[in-house]
Amino acid sequence: MAQAQFDYDLFVIGAGSGGVRASRIAASHGARVAVAEEYRIGGTCVIRGCVPKKLLVYASQFADDLGHAADYGWTVEGARFDWPTLRDAVARDVDRLNAAYTRTLASNQVEHFLDRAEIVGPHSVHLKHSGRTITAKTILVATGAWPVKPDFAGAEHCITSNEVFHLETLPRRVVIAGAGYIALEFAGVFNALGSAVTVVNRSDAILRSYDIDLRDRLLAITQARGIAYRFNAPIDRVEKQADGSLQLHVRDGGEPIAADVVLVATGRTPNTAGLGLENAQIVLGDRGEIPVDGEGRTSCPSVFAVGDVTDRVQLTPIAIREGHAFADGVFGAKPTTVSYDAIPSAVFSQPPLAAVGLTEAEAHAQYADIKVFTSDFRPMKNIFSERVERGYYKLVVDGVTDRVLGIHMIGPDAPEILQAAAIAVKAGLTKADFDATIALHPSMAEELVLMR
Ligand code: NDP
Repeated sequence: MAQAQFDYDLFVIGAGSGGVRASRIAASHGARVAVAEEYRIGGTCVIRGCVPKKLLVYASQFADDLGHAADYGWTVEGARFDWPTLRDAVARDVDRLNAAYTRTLASNQVEHFLDRAEIVGPHSVHLKHSGRTITAKTILVATGAWPVKPDFAGAEHCITSNEVFHLETLPRRVVIAGAGYIALEFAGVFNALGSAVTVVNRSDAILRSYDIDLRDRLLAITQARGIAYRFNAPIDRVEKQADGSLQLHVRDGGEPIAADVVLVATGRTPNTAGLGLENAQIVLGDRGEIPVDGEGRTSCPSVFAVGDVTDRVQLTPIAIREGHAFADGVFGAKPTTVSYDAIPSAVFSQPPLAAVGLTEAEAHAQYADIKVFTSDFRPMKNIFSERVERGYYKLVVDGVTDRVLGIHMIGPDAPEILQAAAIAVKAGLTKADFDATIALHPSMAEELVLMR
């Protein structure tokens, strides 16, 4: 494997989910591997994404649980929430994971450079701070994606999900621009923690890729929980007031919105700026992404890319799979392609929603005969609650083969339940298989096998 004419067999740019997995697996196949990371080992998911976000979601769910507690006979006196305590606990866990990822690289004999790497040729990278130039037989770009703010006056007063984990205090009024994953997840967190939350979006759609019935249910429940929405409201400008607060002007003909924090969550763009890809004759796609083939190969034979920087499916487990497949294929002589079919996903909104496979609309567009089964139920835990928040599950079935093409769920624990149910969709099981499965009672998940 060792190529004397190169410093390394593999040089990875970016130590996030995809880059770390690719480094470790390539090294396990005997490759001499180095990785450069300009910020912190672990990447978006671990440092400023999925993991710290989920901890904030857990923290905010105590508000709901405390409400239920009284219904169940508990007296909870003096309950109060302290943002710095939570923020610092989350930061400590991020430090722990950062250290664990760094150890993983070391224990797999992957050398790492805390430096910014730029490609200077098909087989060479330049490390910006140390000034070193390093050669490698293969280069892997795994630099992820970065939140983008649309172009509007006062954008510099707004934060993105990168900064939200470091807020000094819990904002009293939060405006969130965008109505996708990040917007709806943080809307739920801040609403539950007691902030006044307004979601503003340029269109009238939330979570565009999910089944319409789930989206409608989430919108209704979150409105009932107190989240305000302003739709068809593109941002015009944000002004900073003398007292430090912000005024958001949107183009919907309505009043400006006062806020302490404006969080912009309008999508993430591939992290390709200034990477020197042109030095390897790589031409970017329309969205700034690196185009790759099924094995992650770019138009330059010695340069590969995986994860969000390729802008295929922006999800951590996909980046990990792509990184693993790349390393197995290039260094382990085990060509592997990643299957993008039936990818489960979830939005950790409150309540959460989760889905796998085709939505009802997608299924109608692709199949002649579609059957739809639904369950609209009151989760048992909510039974004493004055809030009437119902769960909703939907199975989308091919009427010809009886195969379950999609499962869509909103309700408590939907992501936990859906991960297991996704196996059935991936395996191509039929509605008859669901019907033949005995219900596990009493549970919410049993609704999945009781839809007739
Ligand atoms: P999303 O793509 O989910 O949503 C973007 C939102 O911003 C949409 O409401 C969209 O509106 C709006 N928007 C897009 N472009 C503009 C623009 N130029 N001006 C104004 N509004 C705009 O992006 P997120 O930032 O929420 O998340 C990025 C990605 O990160 C997700 O796609 C997801 O893959 C990943 N992620 C996954 C999570 C999970 O798995 N739970 C959690 C968080 C992120 P419209 O729909 O009207 O076009």
